[in-house]
Amino acid sequence: MALLKKSSDKTGEPVKKTGKKGAPEPRVITECFCHNKHSLIDDLSKFGDYKGISLKLVSSLSKGQLTLSPVIGDLSRTFFNFNYVADELIKICCPTCLEPLPVYDTCSCGADLVAIFTSRKADFSECVGICQRVGCLNAKIMCSESLSRLIRHRHYFY
Ligand SMILES: [Zn+2]
Ligand SMILES: [Zn+2]
Repeated sequence: MALLKKSSDKTGEPVKKTGKKGAPEPRVITECFCHNKHSLIDDLSKFGDYKGISLKLVSSLSKGQLTLSPVIGDLSRTFFNFNYVADELIKICCPTCLEPLPVYDTCSCGADLVAIFTSRKADFSECVGICQRVGCLNAKIMCSESLSRLIRHRHYFY
């Protein structure tokens, strides 16, 4: 699938919300990276004003792409060209280097959680864990202690 990117003055700029005073601002992941420091924020799919987090998926049936909403607490996600069996374990890879993301922890469902990093340091203390089980994707995106302190949510997608 061809990913056509418009060249625009916004390229590479982290999206920042300049909300009105008094209105609760959505907390948004504005940058995240694979372990090789490739940015996973992509304008393949937008969620409101925000660029989605783009991941390459590999299942037994197909290869495709998943885009997650970067807004904390927003369950939106979009699959592109991806077929899967319910509860199947999928490989979650960086769309740029195509390497599987590193395992971060074990999910309560028994599958592995892989990490996407919220800083270029590729430090597991600054990452979001994503469950490899398809049926679990909604609920098991979790964040580490430091990120949860930052965003004051224990679990990203709860
Ligand atoms: Zn990469
Ligand atoms: Zn799980």
